[in-house]
Amino acid sequence: MNAALRKGWCPSLMMPMASGDGLLVRVKPPAGRLTASNAEAVAEAARLHGNGFIDLTNRGNLQIRGLSDASAEDFAGAMLELGLAVPDPAAEAARTVLVDPLGVDDPMTRGDSRALGLAIEALIVETPELHELPGKFGFLVDAGKLLPTFGFGIDIAIRADAEAWRISLDGCASSARVETGAVIDAVYRLASIFLARAGERAVPARRMREITADGGGQRLLESAGLVTDDASMAPLPNETPPVGFLAHDHAETGAFVVAAPFGQLQSQELVALARMAEAFGDGTLRLTCWRAIVLPSVDRDRAGALAAKAAELGMLVYAGDPRRLVSACPGRPACPAASVDTRADAARLSALDIAGVGAIHVSGCAKGCAHPQAAPLTLVGNDGRYDLVRNGPADARPDFHGLGIAEIVDRLRREGAR
Ligand code: SF4
Repeated sequence: MNAALRKGWCPSLMMPMASGDGLLVRVKPPAGRLTASNAEAVAEAARLHGNGFIDLTNRGNLQIRGLSDASAEDFAGAMLELGLAVPDPAAEAARTVLVDPLGVDDPMTRGDSRALGLAIEALIVETPELHELPGKFGFLVDAGKLLPTFGFGIDIAIRADAEAWRISLDGCASSARVETGAVIDAVYRLASIFLARAGERAVPARRMREITADGGGQRLLESAGLVTDDASMAPLPNETPPVGFLAHDHAETGAFVVAAPFGQLQSQELVALARMAEAFGDGTLRLTCWRAIVLPSVDRDRAGALAAKAAELGMLVYAGDPRRLVSACPGRPACPAASVDTRADAARLSALDIAGVGAIHVSGCAKGCAHPQAAPLTLVGNDGRYDLVRNGPADARPDFHGLGIAEIVDRLRREGAR
């Protein structure tokens, strides 16, 4: 294991990152799917080896906090035994593939996204040159109808397109239609060409959008032998992601979406969700890129009882829950870059009726980990206070500087929050 304390890059299971509460590592369940027994085992290992706090990431990973050099090694060993990781640290770090949460468990699915996602993971693991992909570089496979998946800054996206797949690159308007049997080869060629072009730069590119600017995306697709067109992709959902029960068309079953408050669970909460998956669903938990967990195959007439149990646990399951409008990163003391307690301040803002204000992002610093895109209102921690950005991301130029949380609450009340 490389247990060096490295900062400023993406952690993985065997490459921990130093944080304010110890080391953190990421678990990437293959295709984002966990059995209930594996979820309980991860939760138990997080409690035993770490501090028991588990973040849901926008890559559909579980981020385990509060480990030490020695315990991180034991934790990684436990994940390998469960089959939730591969032994090669470089392959494990590069294996970042998001898949829509239901796959073929959605009766209206447009393709077998899970099988394709697992095949892309296998390609990465078995191809040493692809282990050079940067840690933040990610793939998305989406065929979802009930719960389509979007990704923030997904480098290579593969979406179902009428019996085939459409491949697009972050930052490029063109895309290419590819038959199912040709997708893996196309993905290999695109990733290889990305690595070659990234390495030609004085400072190697780390993300696809650095290459796709100024027509570079279309050239990359064509260099991989793909025929490009400007067919528009299906519009991506831009509303707040759903929570609660979502029925399949003409069916008495559906999926149940449980969101964690500000994206964080404690180990005992993950255990409780695993038991709910067994009692109410098909015994699996699916991870999403919007920091929620999906329980498939829930009967409509039992959804109310499941909602009551999850709400009792403190989870978000009702559309009107004001916490759905507020996102927050771990903040102080968990992250050394933060000077503000983002989650406590986010909870305080959630206690207001902020429906008239719109979504609020509370970020510990300008990196904006919890919500990389623009929000109607972004609070950016700065030296123990907040700068405010209107309609922008955390790294935009602030409209106001140096406000305390009480001043922000007053300001929001004057603007219509109650
Ligand atoms: S945005 Fe939050 S979690 Fe990310 S580096 Fe800044 S303080 Fe840390």
